[in-house]
Amino acid sequence: MTESGIGEKEIDLRIKILKEDAKKRGYNLNTDELLVRELVSGILINKKRYGFESCPCRLTIGKKEDNIDIICPCDYREQDISEYGCCYCALYVSEDVEAKKKTAEPIPDRRFERQDSENHKVPDNCAGIKNLRLKYPIFRCRVCGYLCARENPPQICPICKAVSEKFEKYL
Ligand code: SF4
Repeated sequence: MTESGIGEKEIDLRIKILKEDAKKRGYNLNTDELLVRELVSGILINKKRYGFESCPCRLTIGKKEDNIDIICPCDYREQDISEYGCCYCALYVSEDVEAKKKTAEPIPDRRFERQDSENHKVPDNCAGIKNLRLKYPIFRCRVCGYLCARENPPQICPICKAVSEKFEKYL
C-alpha cells in the first residue's frame, strides 16, 4: 500500500489496462515507467478524493460538472499530443516521442485558452445540416471528436474511451 492508501496492485492493474487500451486505440503511454506510475497513482488518488478521475497535474476545484474537461483523458489530449508530442502531464505521448525520434516539449495549459463555444460552432459552409430533420441528436466526444447520432451519448467513447460526460450535444 502506498502512503496515499492506493495499493500497488491497483496501480499495476490500471497501468496494464491503460497500456492495452492505448495500444488498441492508437495511443502511446510514456515509456518512463516511473512517471506513468506516479501519474496513474495521482489519477486514482483523485478518484478517491473527489469521486472522479481528474487530471493528476491540474488543480481540481469544485464539483465534477466544473471539471469534466480535465477528467482523464482530458479534452485537450489530442491537440496537445499533435502539437507538442505529449499531453499536459506527458502520460500520453506521440509515436515519434515514444520512438525517441523527438522529445516532448513543455506545454502551456490549454484549459485556460479555451474558446469553447466558438470552437464548437458548426462551420458556415456546413450550415445546411442544421436544417436537416434528424431522427436522433448528434453527440460529439470532446476528447477525440467522434460523432454519433443516438438518443443519448454512449457510456464510453468507442474511439478514445472517454466517459459519457465528455460528450456534448453537437446538433
Ligand atoms: S490525458 Fe489529460 S488528464 Fe490525462 S494525464 Fe494527460 S493531461 Fe492529464
